[in-house]
Amino acid sequence: MSLSGSCLCGAVSYNLAGEPLFVSQCFCRDCQKATGTGHTTIVGVEASNLEVKGSPRVFTNTGETGGRVHRHFCGECGSRLFTSGDLPGDVRMVQAGTLDDPGAVSPTNAIYLKDRIHWDAVASDIAHHDDIGPPPV
Ligand SMILES: [Zn+2]
Ligand SMILES: [Zn+2]
Repeated sequence: MSLSGSCLCGAVSYNLAGEPLFVSQCFCRDCQKATGTGHTTIVGVEASNLEVKGSPRVFTNTGETGGRVHRHFCGECGSRLFTSGDLPGDVRMVQAGTLDDPGAVSPTNAIYLKDRIHWDAVASDIAHHDDIGPPPV
């Protein structure tokens, strides 16, 4: 599988090689604040399979499990692009909405449903987890 994507203004773009490790929907409060809506949809990929063109800015905070979370975003248009952090393995989590063909991936699980907002529905045909769930990789 080969996927490409970019921010809204195009200043930052990327290519993905290989198969996604996981595709998840995260309903945690940090994702709600960072995206401005009910949840984010992320595509987990090996860091070596993500080729970034341009220079995203990075915002770092501490996630619920205590690890650092680095959110990479376009400094021009503000689009969230991908996340890195203190994870097992060298994984990047790409924001699925920035893909040029976002329908090319399908989420298989939803995490942090304990924080889900009542107006943000979750698909019934994917795995549901109240918190982070089992390690995705
Ligand atoms: Zn941009
Ligand atoms: Zn989250």
